[in-house]
Amino acid sequence: MSRQFSSLLAIAAVAVTLTPAPALAQPTPKEVDCTQVKCVALTFDDGPGQYAGTLLDTFKKYNAKATFFLEGQYVKSRPSYVKRMVKEGHEIGNHSYKHPDFTKMSATAIRSEIKKTNDAIKKASGAEPKLLRPPYGLGGVLISEVAAEFDMPIILWTGGSRDWESKNEAAIKKQTLAVAKDDSIVLMHDWVKQTVDAMPSIIQTLQKNGYHLVKVTDITKHENLKPGDTFPLPAGWEN
Ligand SMILES: [Zn+2]
Repeated sequence: MSRQFSSLLAIAAVAVTLTPAPALAQPTPKEVDCTQVKCVALTFDDGPGQYAGTLLDTFKKYNAKATFFLEGQYVKSRPSYVKRMVKEGHEIGNHSYKHPDFTKMSATAIRSEIKKTNDAIKKASGAEPKLLRPPYGLGGVLISEVAAEFDMPIILWTGGSRDWESKNEAAIKKQTLAVAKDDSIVLMHDWVKQTVDAMPSIIQTLQKNGYHLVKVTDITKHENLKPGDTFPLPAGWEN
């Protein structure tokens, strides 16, 4: 072996040693095909909450997407967060204006809650929400009919972080990772400070485990949902 060749080999060996290990994180590209890769949709209800800015910074840092089911009253008081959510590629859904129980209301009153919230979101961000999540996830025939008038499917969740209950960073992370499986829709709240604090670590772990953090419609687009349909169907609702 020539001296020159062996020193080239030595250089190559050093280069191989110095090459950083391939990054394990899975930043999410613009278009994700959730039939081909593992996807999780993290969803945040009742906001925009007071910590939404920090949460948005975290999602931006990890190139991840979320879905926000917003309350009209907070859209009105914190419009700049809504504008940022849309601008940064997150999905916006309607979660009523003041969080009443739709199952105790008339169609007219439900309609008004949905419309006022859609109007507030449009005014704040220019976006029109295409998804409805009724307060408490409580649905029924009448709510489905009204949702259909607005061309919206009803989006519930496959698992909850129980963040509003534990208000504990470690517990929120543990519970979220326990329910975050392929094509999961996970319920969280951006008004819970510990959720926002736990989010960098939750996102890092999910990405390290091969998950893409996507919008709800990235997961539901192969479900052929029609306006007024509910997804996922609660247990016992199989039609
Ligand atoms: Zn809620």
